[in-house]
Amino acid sequence: MAQIIDGKAISQTIKDEVKKEVQELSEKGIPVTLAVIQVGEDPASTVYVNNKKRACAYTGIRSLSYNLPESAAQEELLSLIGQLNEREDVNGILVQLPLPGHMDEDAVIEAICPRKDVDGFHPQNVGALCIGKPGFVPCTPAGIIELLKRSGIEIAGKECVMIGRSNIVGKPMALLLLRENATVTVAHSRTADLKEVSGRADILVVATGRARMITAEYVKPGAAVIDVGMDRDENNKLCGDVDFEAVSGIAGAITPVPGGVGPMTIAMLMKNCVQAARMQESGKKNS
Ligand code: NDP
Repeated sequence: MAQIIDGKAISQTIKDEVKKEVQELSEKGIPVTLAVIQVGEDPASTVYVNNKKRACAYTGIRSLSYNLPESAAQEELLSLIGQLNEREDVNGILVQLPLPGHMDEDAVIEAICPRKDVDGFHPQNVGALCIGKPGFVPCTPAGIIELLKRSGIEIAGKECVMIGRSNIVGKPMALLLLRENATVTVAHSRTADLKEVSGRADILVVATGRARMITAEYVKPGAAVIDVGMDRDENNKLCGDVDFEAVSGIAGAITPVPGGVGPMTIAMLMKNCVQAARMQESGKKNS
């Protein structure tokens, strides 16, 4: 039976570390503030936004909430982002995605000041990650690196296969694994022989959005399997992209869904907010 990687426990440890840092910053007169913008009332987005606000409250980060109606014009959102970019008391800005269909997500992300882009989606931060410069790293892949390290799973020199090439998970994950000196392969829906490719992995990260598609045949015995998926099965039950029952019998380590990658995303967002406050403070000193 595989080692179960407990994302809930690890994320709790990270939130406690963040809480301590926030306290120390606050004692030096540096409060940490995150502005969260939601457009419309999509129920899933409301759950995510509330979870983020709860994590802010736990760690001592001040959260400011902005709710725009579904029908809001893109200009209204851009103008709000512009105001928050200018405010010295706001360290991080997060726009909950997805946005309503009439808005251009890329334009909205690009409007956020890169120094406040705690989601790490701005092209400047994406580019920084790509060329190994400091910047914000997207929370889900950053959380996976923490899960691996804190579970004692060596990354350097290992064969890593990332299934999925999205901008928010697959691509930044591949870059982060590379930064950790892994040998990285990125697979996707057009990969010719996925079982052969994934079967080489010492560390297999799966982000396809296809419920339980990764069965034991895709996994090398003893591999660490990280399941990013948040899917619904035929009974509408939350499950991952990996068939946990089958794969936990062959893997060396595995993340469950829920309780694996999911909680890490928010913990890393809190960490990015602290990074934003520190960067902005040192920017003030240097100017
Ligand atoms: P996307 O839909 O943007 O990307 C899915 C990727 O998987 C694509 O690159 C696609 O390939 C690939 N893919 C789809 N089907 C197959 C297949 N049969 N074989 C091989 N590759 C395939 O999804 P996201 O990256 O945004 O999300 C993936 C999953 O992770 C979802 O379940 C999502 O809910 C979850 N998620 C969880 C988070 C968390 O905090 N735990 C955060 C973000 C996402 P191609 O490019 O060729 O189409």
